[in-house]
Amino acid sequence: MSRFLEANPELLSRFAQAYLARWDTYPYQLPDGAYTRAQSIRFDGAKVYPPLTMAHVVHHLRGEQTLGAYILDANNITTRIVLDDDSEQGLDRLRELAQDFHRQGIPSYLERSSRGGHLWIHTPPLSGMEARRIGIHLLSAHHLTTKDIELYPKQNSLQPGQVGSLVRLPFGKHLKTGRIYGFIDLDGHDLAERRRDQLAIVSAPKRVSQGVIDQLLAAAPAVKQTFHLDPKEVKRYAGDVPPDVKIKRAISPYDFISQYVDLDPTGKGLCPFHDDHRYSLKVYEDGWHCFAGCEGNTIIDFYIQWKGYSSLKLASDDWKTVLLEMLKLLGL
Ligand SMILES: [Zn+2]
Repeated sequence: MSRFLEANPELLSRFAQAYLARWDTYPYQLPDGAYTRAQSIRFDGAKVYPPLTMAHVVHHLRGEQTLGAYILDANNITTRIVLDDDSEQGLDRLRELAQDFHRQGIPSYLERSSRGGHLWIHTPPLSGMEARRIGIHLLSAHHLTTKDIELYPKQNSLQPGQVGSLVRLPFGKHLKTGRIYGFIDLDGHDLAERRRDQLAIVSAPKRVSQGVIDQLLAAAPAVKQTFHLDPKEVKRYAGDVPPDVKIKRAISPYDFISQYVDLDPTGKGLCPFHDDHRYSLKVYEDGWHCFAGCEGNTIIDFYIQWKGYSSLKLASDDWKTVLLEMLKLLGL
């Protein structure tokens, strides 16, 4: 593989282009299978995130280091949608989806994983929200949700400084099993016998056409844009009521938080404040909580975390700014 990669630098850059969203920072796999974001400490003690280089990608393809691929770039744009099914029958289920997508003019590439597989769909540039809308729509046609099959990108958009969720970069050695998993075709056979030939095929992927994307977006239910305000309720508490009380009375935590996170009917969803795979976020009648330790409280605290504001003191100017933003958002 090494000499082959050296002899084919354009292939390497096509591979990187097709599967990597950003170069300013990168994640890699630890021996236990978990991923961590590469970081180092500068001489003055500051934490810095080193950039990804082509040398890292070569190490990855040689099986010397295993990289993860962030799905959203720093501007919340992606050119891929990934479905990750790690259930027992995951690979077969993804292959059925791939066959159906193929009939709809949606090319996809199916890679085995330690359990199940990853289905890569290459697209024209999409916002995180558009990619998720399409992904949720494609799943729902098969009576599946993002609880059955994980959908990447997992975030509609990133908070400042965040990188979002990642998928193992294809052909990476899974450090826990020691295996490298390849791609299979719609019939379940290896996409090509040799890994270098698979690499060549998936590095020049067929993309979903803009026409099909437009059709999918037109068919996918739009994310709710309006808040469910009960006009009577708003009126009753207008006047001398403090703004934070006004905000909390104007909208239920479920209606507010579901504008930002996909919530199931019981109020559970993926926490947007950590790399959540376990539906740690729970919304209650009077607030929310993340069981993985992101705390929680009122919708105002949710909004503060979402916007990336931190440690706001009550009555500070920042606090007032947040309240004014929310009042405006809610049309109060
Ligand atoms: Zn959390």
